[in-house]
Amino acid sequence: MAPHTDVEARAVDTAARLRAAGLRVTDSRRAVVDALIERPHASADELFAVVARTLPATSLQSVYNALGDFVDAGLARRIEPAGRPGLFELRVDDNHHHLICSRCGAVEDVDCVVGEAPCLTPSDAHGYAVQVAEVTFWGVCPACAQAAPGDGEPAVAGLARF
Ligand SMILES: [Zn+2]
Ligand SMILES: [Zn+2]
Repeated sequence: MAPHTDVEARAVDTAARLRAAGLRVTDSRRAVVDALIERPHASADELFAVVARTLPATSLQSVYNALGDFVDAGLARRIEPAGRPGLFELRVDDNHHHLICSRCGAVEDVDCVVGEAPCLTPSDAHGYAVQVAEVTFWGVCPACAQAAPGDGEPAVAGLARF
């Protein structure tokens, strides 16, 4: 496919994603979806910086509003690593987990540990019907480990938070 048709195809795809989620298609919502495609696991501030390149009149508040609408509509997922700003992504249709570098904040997707949601069983569910397990593995990414080997935390993900 030629490059210009890729761009057109993505514009159609973006609008279709919004409509499929029951959301009205607006320039700022389209720009936020495009920013999420470009920068998965970005904070609202980071997404605003991306959106502002194509839509300079956009406000941070409108990006927050779009993200809130996306999460409510099931188009985007918000992950909230402890001590860090909330991060947003479009990959919502599975129960995947995240591996986060405790030094630089790099984030990687990790597929479900076992099959499908919730994919992990609590040692005691206290009678709850468990639907989702959100696991954050904290560790040191290869780049950080190479930059400062043996400094601080062990280079192996050790802590899983639920
Ligand atoms: Zn790192
Ligand atoms: Zn993810």
